[in-house]
Amino acid sequence: MIHRACLFLLLVGCAGPLGALRVETPLTISGQRFTLRSDERSAADRQLLEQALQKATPGLARWGGLELPVTVYLLATHDDLEAAVHRRGFGWLRAWARYDDVIFQAPSTWTTSQPVVEQLVLHELTHCLLFQRSGTRETWLEKKIPLWFREGMAISTAVQAPLYPSLEDSALWLVRNPTLDAFRDGEVLSEGQSAEMYGIALHAFNFLERRYGTAHIQGLMTAMRKGSDFETAFDKTIGVPVVRFQKDFENYLRLRAFRGIRRPQRSDKAGAVTPGQGM
Ligand SMILES: [Zn+2]
Repeated sequence: MIHRACLFLLLVGCAGPLGALRVETPLTISGQRFTLRSDERSAADRQLLEQALQKATPGLARWGGLELPVTVYLLATHDDLEAAVHRRGFGWLRAWARYDDVIFQAPSTWTTSQPVVEQLVLHELTHCLLFQRSGTRETWLEKKIPLWFREGMAISTAVQAPLYPSLEDSALWLVRNPTLDAFRDGEVLSEGQSAEMYGIALHAFNFLERRYGTAHIQGLMTAMRKGSDFETAFDKTIGVPVVRFQKDFENYLRLRAFRGIRRPQRSDKAGAVTPGQGM
């Protein structure tokens, strides 16, 4: 997510790191269109991203796929990424997704694992999908989609659970931080506790999907597209206010109601790497 003023600057400005990406590679993968923008030196990273984009489309199908073409920017260094998103001090940041584009730091600068790159690409494209299906180019920033839903959906879709705290860890966090509110203040808390917030996000999202079903989550996106903000759309389509859902989820954690629930098989596929790679 990014402030609207910065967004405008980024999209119209030809100066800066994005303007230097003059190699354009158009791709159509399972009917979804991408434009990969990179510089002349990034052939190997370009290939990595291309492969990851090929692998991502089946994962996106769970939510109906992307609705619009996405531009994928490949920047050579972390400094370029921070300059492009107008943020400093986000050492862990590897990518940044918006309505119809994603900016990536060259994967070769931080990992040698192709599966990790594939997960990150699917994670970021899930953000684009959510923004596209919940709003228009003009309204997506106004939907006030909270971190727990945004990141939970992306981590769940990209099968990145092994990167984040377990249900038990999240239950402990809740008990140890009775005055903090991961739902209401997720954005602020994630500055210092990103792994903890992303873990809770994942478990809350899984709880939501298991309890109410995938179709209701698609309905939630549709209700936002039709004009509601997140909170109103949630109440309308899920049938309970967000605060009530939060209470249910927190009770589920506190009472360890997850014990005895088998971890989904797909969580086992991913390798262990450092948490917190994209926003
Ligand atoms: Zn994210």
